[in-house]
Amino acid sequence: MTALHDAPTALERLDRQPYTYVRRELVEPDWRRFPGWAHVTEAQWRDAQWQRVNCVKNVKQLRKVTGDLLSEKFYDDLAADQETFATMSMLIPPQMLNTMAVDAAPADFTDAFLADPVRRYMLPVRSDRDPRWPSHPHSQRDSLHEAEMWVVEGLTHRYPTKVLAEMVSTCPQYCGHCTRMDLVGNSTPLIDKHKLSLKPVDRQDQMIDYLKKTPGVRDVVVSGGDVANVPWPQLESFLMRLLDIETVRDIRLATKALAGLPQHWIQPRVVEGLERVARTASRRGVNLAIHTHVNHAQSVTPLVAEAARTALEVGVRDVRNQGVLMKGVNATPDDLLDLCFALQGEANILPYYFYMCDMIPNAEHWRVAVWEAQELQHAIMGYLPGYATPRIVCDVPYVGKRWVHQLAEYDRELGISYWTKNYRTGIELEDPEALDRRYPYYDPISTLGEAGQKWWSDQT
Ligand code: SF4
Repeated sequence: MTALHDAPTALERLDRQPYTYVRRELVEPDWRRFPGWAHVTEAQWRDAQWQRVNCVKNVKQLRKVTGDLLSEKFYDDLAADQETFATMSMLIPPQMLNTMAVDAAPADFTDAFLADPVRRYMLPVRSDRDPRWPSHPHSQRDSLHEAEMWVVEGLTHRYPTKVLAEMVSTCPQYCGHCTRMDLVGNSTPLIDKHKLSLKPVDRQDQMIDYLKKTPGVRDVVVSGGDVANVPWPQLESFLMRLLDIETVRDIRLATKALAGLPQHWIQPRVVEGLERVARTASRRGVNLAIHTHVNHAQSVTPLVAEAARTALEVGVRDVRNQGVLMKGVNATPDDLLDLCFALQGEANILPYYFYMCDMIPNAEHWRVAVWEAQELQHAIMGYLPGYATPRIVCDVPYVGKRWVHQLAEYDRELGISYWTKNYRTGIELEDPEALDRRYPYYDPISTLGEAGQKWWSDQT
C-alpha cells in the first residue's frame, strides 16, 4: 500500500500523462540577433513592404542576413539540394527566418539551424532527403490531379459542393513540400513550372460565370498560391462578386501569409478591405473564414496572433489552421499538441486539419506512413477541446480528404492502403465504377520492413 505521504502531488500526477500542457506566452524572437538585421527597427519589422523587399531568395541574401553564423558545409548542402532536389525556389520572409534557431548561441548556430523544424521544410538541404528513396515511384508533380479537374483554368471542381479557385500562382513564401509545386512559384533546375495562361481578369470572369451556372457549388476556397499575393482591390472585387452569387454560402481564404507574413494582414488598407468584405458576408449570411498553414509552434508569434485577431475583430467568422504533417517538423504528439495549444489558446486560430504530406517528388523524407498518422491521431485525442482537436487527413489521389482511420484495406508489408469514396470528382461523372473502385495510397518505402523494401526494389 502507498503511504499517504508517498501519494503523488497534483504536478507529479500531470507528469504521469503522456503529454503535459503548460501555457506558454507567445514571443516575437529578436531579429537583431541576425547580423544583417542588427539595426532593423520595430517599425520596419511591422511593415509588410519591408518584409517583402527583404525576403531571402538566394544564398547570397542568406549570407548577408546571417553573416558568418552558418558554416560553408551548410551552404554546400543547400546548394546541392537546390541543384538536384528542390521542387520549390527559395523565398523566405524575414518573419519566417526569424522563427528558426531562436535560442541558438552563435557557436552552435549551424547545428541548431540544421535541426530546426521550420528550416527543415522552408529551406531543405540535400542531407535532409531520403538517401535511398527520395521520391516514391508513384509520386507525381500534380499528385492530387487538380489541373485535370479544372473546369476553367485554375478552378478545380473535385468535390460535389465545393471548388478551389486558384487566383494566383505565387506566394509571399515558398514551402519546400508545396503540394502545388507543379504550378506555384518559380521554376527550379529540377522543375519547369506550368504557367497560368489566361489574364487574371479573364480567369476570374470565367470562374464567376461557372459558379453562376453551377448552383450546386456552395463553398469556394479562394486560394493560389496565396491570396496575400493578389492585389487587394482585385481580391476584394472577386470576393464581392462571389458574395453576389446567392448559392455561394461558404468562402474560405487560403493564406499561409497569416503566419509567414502576418504584416500583410495588419496593413490598414487590407484590414479595411477585409472589414468591407466581412460586413457584406455577414449581411448575406455567408460564412467567411481564413484558412492558414502553420506547421510548428515556433511560428506562432505575437504578430501572428495579432493578424488572426484583427481578422476576427473585423468580422471574419473563423481563422483555421491546415498544417501539414511532416517528419522532422511536427510528426510527434508533443509537437502537434504544442502547436495546437499555441494556435487555439494564444492566437485564436482553430486547429482544423493536418494533411499527410502529399506524394510529390522528393518528399519521402517528410512523409509518414498511414499507420504512423493513425497513431498520431490517437495520441492527440482528449487534450484539446473536441471542436479544436484537429483531424489528420490523407488526401488520396482521385478521392479527396479522408480521415486516416477511414481506409478500406491496408497491406502493411507493401505499404499500400486502399480507400473508397462516396461521390464522383468532376472527371468521373460518367464513370459507373467510380464509387466501387478502391484507390491506392502509398506509405514511404523507408518505413517498410525488409520484404516490402525488396518488393519495391524489384519493381523499380
Ligand atoms: S504557401 Fe501554400 S501554396 Fe504557397 S508554397 Fe507554401 S504550401 Fe505552396
